[in-house]
Amino acid sequence: MAHKFYETVKRNFDKAAALTDHPKGLLLQIRECNSVYQMRFPVRIGKRYEVIEAYRVQHSQHRQPTKGGIRYSDMVDQEEVMALASLMTFKCAIVDVPFGGAKGGVKINPRNYTEDQLQNITRRYTMELIKKGFIGPSVDVPAPDYGTSSREMAWILDTYQTFARGEIDAVGCVTGKPVSQNGISGRTEATGRGVYYGLREAVNQKEDMEALGLEPGIAGKRIVVQGFGNVGSFSAQIAQEEGDAIIVGIAEYDGTIYNPQGININKLIKYRKRTGSIVGFPGTKLIKDKNAWTELECDILIPAALENQITKQNARKIKARIIAEAANGPITAEGEDILLKKGVLILPDMFLNAGGVTVSYFEWLKNLSHMRFGRMEKRFNENTYGNIMNAVERLTDRKIGIKERNVITRGAEEIDLVRSGLEETMITAYHSIRGIYKRRKKVEDLRTAAFICALDKVANDYIALGVFP
Ligand code: NAD
Repeated sequence: MAHKFYETVKRNFDKAAALTDHPKGLLLQIRECNSVYQMRFPVRIGKRYEVIEAYRVQHSQHRQPTKGGIRYSDMVDQEEVMALASLMTFKCAIVDVPFGGAKGGVKINPRNYTEDQLQNITRRYTMELIKKGFIGPSVDVPAPDYGTSSREMAWILDTYQTFARGEIDAVGCVTGKPVSQNGISGRTEATGRGVYYGLREAVNQKEDMEALGLEPGIAGKRIVVQGFGNVGSFSAQIAQEEGDAIIVGIAEYDGTIYNPQGININKLIKYRKRTGSIVGFPGTKLIKDKNAWTELECDILIPAALENQITKQNARKIKARIIAEAANGPITAEGEDILLKKGVLILPDMFLNAGGVTVSYFEWLKNLSHMRFGRMEKRFNENTYGNIMNAVERLTDRKIGIKERNVITRGAEEIDLVRSGLEETMITAYHSIRGIYKRRKKVEDLRTAAFICALDKVANDYIALGVFP
């Protein structure tokens, strides 16, 4: 199946490339993965040794460092990592993050290992990357992906630092770190928050929503989410809390829960923490059928688990008018053809889930500057706004209430700046791909538009570098 994923990425690339006038050789260079490091290493698990299969792929070094998450899953293989690394290049270009694309994968199911064993595997994997020069703040910077989190990033950082004596920017070797370990506020929620900003912008376009038979605006939209992990849970939570969307269904590997009146996501997160599953959440109906989530009555479907989830087998029965690709590659090529014929609006992965790498970029900048965002200007701004308030009070001879004064004079914390930078990035990126989609006659979908947007930027880099005439 992963094999299919890489084929789909290449098919989508070719579809867009045919609509550009870049030379063939340049397009081929952009299409292929530059460096593929396949490794096997032994790790002691209890009384025996296991030989672990792992990868790091750098798709394009037209900008450096390269960047991309590390996935822990027993479905990892070389083609999957190559597909994900390719998407990273295009993703970074779309959101103007100045990195090349990369991705890592370790073929394990993390549920089968203890925390200590996972730490050993992570540290050994990092050692392999160090040995071959596949990690470093100016070379290649990993981040979390499916099956990994800030915990693994802290282990990677610690291992890297052990061998990077005197390297002043060493903490920039990995992003998605815990905030206390040189991470940045807002990274954990970043991909889900980016999904929300991108989706909100798309549904705010009156003309596009009318074409789909929907009212503009996110409020009241019925949403179903597949995968209640990092990306899925934050997408659902933020869409509900900040957008007043109604989350009617959540699908996990052990079942789908449904309530047409809406599911309280904050309560569901607590319930899952307590019980280890979403199954049995009060007020919801449990549907065991694996495909049920695709067939539920809703306006927006958010696949946020893995690739190849929407296929020719289930695409026809989808009722949603919008599919928001929070996961990478959730729709197969055949599935996509069916959906486009049905007039479904697909918000492509390489745009919609780019919030993670965007905030990773902010974290990397923070690491290189050795200072948190907001430290220099927060108090200065608060004092300035306070002075303005005093002047207004003097000139109008009226007192401004303390609550209102506090809101107006607040200086930005790091989290405010991160969210603001992310919101700006997602909105700008959406309009750049929508602009291509609307302007260019032969561009029939947003994915092709996103590819063209990315391709043009990467091609310009190669041309500017003098690699191609
Ligand atoms: P995660 O491991 O935190 O969560 C994934 C969830 O999906 C898990 O709860 C898992 O049980 C569930 N799941 C797996 N298979 C399923 C199935 N068949 N049906 C229903 N649920 C299933 O992973 P994540 O970081 O949230 O990543 C999810 C997707 O988002 C991946 O495609 C990843 O590449 C992509 N992504 C992640 C990030 C990030 O910052 N973490 C950034 C960009 C893209």
